[in-house]
Amino acid sequence: MPAHNQTAPGELEDVRRFVNSWSIPNQTRIETDQLPQWASDSQAWARELSRCPLHPEDQLDTLLELRLALRESCANHDHDSEALNTWFDKVPLSAFIESIESVARLRLKPLQSTYRGHILALVANAIASGEWSRLKTCGDCQWAFYDHTRNGNKRWCGMSKGGPDGRACGTIAKVTAFRLRAADKARKAAE
Ligand SMILES: [Zn+2]
Repeated sequence: MPAHNQTAPGELEDVRRFVNSWSIPNQTRIETDQLPQWASDSQAWARELSRCPLHPEDQLDTLLELRLALRESCANHDHDSEALNTWFDKVPLSAFIESIESVARLRLKPLQSTYRGHILALVANAIASGEWSRLKTCGDCQWAFYDHTRNGNKRWCGMSKGGPDGRACGTIAKVTAFRLRAADKARKAAE
């Protein structure tokens, strides 16, 4: 797995894309929200976000609130239950059994075919599988990435340049720390 691979496994990628509809692009460094535009263009929606279309009951305001809750959760998984239980109360999900290679697993799906239900069912299934805590937002640029590392302690979107999405925040943080240490050393030497 390349170090810059940030893609989430399976349909969880829909959630990552949804979360990243708000971002601070590397080129501009200006907070950018693409959700309103994509919500008004079904082709852009399918291309950028998900094959699951918007339902007439998916209000933009609700989606913005949901995205904020997911962003907060991805930034700090210690507070998952507070942020997400409210949403699981609001959006009904139903259970079904899925058999993969003769192993039966209990999965959740939305009771109504809304986009918010689609997203919340994916979050619920990822919590059950242990994948949710690996969907994180970068401590610097806040870009959402999936942590593929063995011990799951990645904090920045990318440790090296080369990823098409995201920037080398880990490298930038390391360089900044190195410069601070070097400046501190130089200052102490001069004293
Ligand atoms: Zn970053």
